[in-house]
Amino acid sequence: MKLIFLGPPGAGKGTLAVKVVELLGVPQISTGAIFRAAIAEKSPLGLKVKGIIDAGKLVDDETTIALVKERLAMDDVQKGYILDGFPRTIAQAEALAEFSAVDKVVNFDIPDSGVIERLSGRLVCRKCGFNFHAVFNKPSKDGICDYCGGEVYVRDDDKPEAIKKRLEVYRDQTAPLIDYYRKKGLLVDIDASSMVDKILINFKKALEL
Ligand code: ADP
Ligand code: ZN
Repeated sequence: MKLIFLGPPGAGKGTLAVKVVELLGVPQISTGAIFRAAIAEKSPLGLKVKGIIDAGKLVDDETTIALVKERLAMDDVQKGYILDGFPRTIAQAEALAEFSAVDKVVNFDIPDSGVIERLSGRLVCRKCGFNFHAVFNKPSKDGICDYCGGEVYVRDDDKPEAIKKRLEVYRDQTAPLIDYYRKKGLLVDIDASSMVDKILINFKKALEL
């Protein structure tokens, strides 16, 4: 099963992906997580993208496409994958079509108000990447991940100015992919405004799993 998770920042793509990885046994590929790991390592890629990401802008297509192409050539994804956060532009979608054939594109449907509410309380584990929320889903101990003991922090791009920018970028550059994939008959819409267990149920129904 080769899936794309499409939706605005904060729609819960990453959170649902963790559940679907368990369900389908295919890996999650999150371009955002790959970039954040590169930033933490201070690798050349990380140094190149840090400022762009913190400002809420998109990394250039060429860099992003090359990264995904390389990742999709690895053995563990030959049975399937969940692409979380890629493609984010039409150019990325067209490039992807040349090296991999996706089965379904899951569109996370959620209003802007829901997105802002979620992003502005999001807390992320530095070690395992689990997403908590300052109001809806707090870690049991302040600042410490329940699952791996890692440090829980606020991403630089979850600060209010960057959130605004990311929503704009989504609207201008990524939302056109909804029509793009709908026309290709690959799009499946799911209501993403509820809690994650409910979203998982919606997901299974929509994909007849
Ligand atoms: P979210 O879904 O919460 O916005 P991600 O972790 O998917 O966050 O991405 C974080 C940031 O990484 C994006 O705002 C962007 O700067 C960069 N990024 C991730 N995926 C892509 C992509 N496909 N193309 C360009 N930039 C990307
Ligand atoms: Zn953790």
